[in-house]
Amino acid sequence: MRKTHGQTGMDADVIIVGAGMVGLALACALKDSGLHIIIIERAEAQVRFSLGRDCRVSAIVRGNQQILAGIGVWPYLEGDAEPIRAMRVWDNQEAGGIRFDAAEIDQPAMGYLIENSCTQAAMHRALLASDDVEYLCPAEISLLEWFDERVQVSLSDGRVLNTPLLVGADGGRSWVREQAGIGCYQRDYGQQGIVATVRPEHGHRGTACQRFLPTGPLAVLPMSDGLCSIVWSAEQDEAKRLMAMGDDEFLSALNATFGPVLGRVVEAGERAAFPLIGRLAHHFVRERVALVGDAAHCIHPLAGLGVNLGLRDAMVLAQEISDARRFDEDWGDMAVLDRYMKQRMPDVLSVMASMESFHQLFTHDFPGLKELRGLGMRLVGNSGPVKKLLMRNSTGLSLPVPKQIS
Ligand SMILES: Cc1cc2nc3c(=O)[nH]c(=O)nc-3n(C[C@H](O)[C@H](O)[C@H](O)COP(=O)(O)OP(=O)(O)OC[C@H]3O[C@@H](n4cnc5c(N)ncnc54)[C@H](O)[C@@H]3O)c2cc1C
Repeated sequence: MRKTHGQTGMDADVIIVGAGMVGLALACALKDSGLHIIIIERAEAQVRFSLGRDCRVSAIVRGNQQILAGIGVWPYLEGDAEPIRAMRVWDNQEAGGIRFDAAEIDQPAMGYLIENSCTQAAMHRALLASDDVEYLCPAEISLLEWFDERVQVSLSDGRVLNTPLLVGADGGRSWVREQAGIGCYQRDYGQQGIVATVRPEHGHRGTACQRFLPTGPLAVLPMSDGLCSIVWSAEQDEAKRLMAMGDDEFLSALNATFGPVLGRVVEAGERAAFPLIGRLAHHFVRERVALVGDAAHCIHPLAGLGVNLGLRDAMVLAQEISDARRFDEDWGDMAVLDRYMKQRMPDVLSVMASMESFHQLFTHDFPGLKELRGLGMRLVGNSGPVKKLLMRNSTGLSLPVPKQIS
């Protein structure tokens, strides 16, 4: 991958705006296609450390680990990925809750917990060998202009680039989405996601724990060296209170809420809080523009599926671009881009709908709901086939393997 700071003068077959995990995954999926790709990123990522680890982590489901392997990223990431071998879910009523074990679906892991900065670094390494991918950073776009067969991208330093396809991978508040005139549905959950690295007294044995509370879920996820990463979704006032606490007070609050599942949590690193806002773009495409990842859809992190959906966007879009090229089609044309959107919308809508149902189911406590929740958990827990189906769906193993890597 070439890092370009001066004049580029070269136009690109695809320009990707945003070098988050999804934009980089798309570049990785296209790196051997023979197409000239330019990635535009406005700033190098700033990592916020908590007990020496990136406080931003993602649970990458097993199906998507296979995607990362297929696009050449996994070999650089494997050493940083902690297998999630089991998952325990419970609420504030049901004593036992439900436990999912990867062995039940004959898999070594349900997914992997990885620090976001490690994933991005591994993707950069995978791109290094490619001369067809150019990385412009820091670079700010000042203007986008649409012409019949291209989009013209003007950078604030005077450089001008042309491309038949511009991809918005620039996150939830996507500038590309706005410039393309694509509206979005927005739902403010009125919550913040508090993240930190913590050290429990006992080993986690690769088990991810999620406790659902009326104010939002608290996830304690396994990391290497016996550490865990927490994602505590809390309503605004509660989140402010938790963020303002001193370390000891926060530890007590965490222990009181989580319970002695892994013994006591004995240390908590620096905390960071992120507003939780759901978004869905009205369209994922328009002439010569495609949106991927959070630019197209943001979901509540309760099931840790945001970047997982984004990785699948990247794979499908890469496949459509490669197929179009093979059949001499213009990959910025709406006919091609519509094929991308039609494949992705059903997956995104079904994940969003199930996340919304989970959110409603666990944040409301009107009469009867508590019992219904308990019954649901017992039914799923006791029914082998239903449980296996749920596990295969949630780990992405029931989805077709993207053609790109099959
Ligand atoms: C608390 C929390 C926990 C989460 N846990 C999980 C999890 O366990 N599993 C999971 O799958 N998902 C999880 N998610 C969701 C996941 O973090 C996001 O879905 C994912 O980071 C989105 O990646 P992205 O590449 O689409 O966007 P981003 O990560 O937002 O990257 C966008 C990039 O574009 C750049 N950019 C923005 N504007 C411009 C511009 N105008 N010009 C150039 N560059 C620009 C930014 O600098 C950035 O580098 C979680 C989210 C939160 C808040």
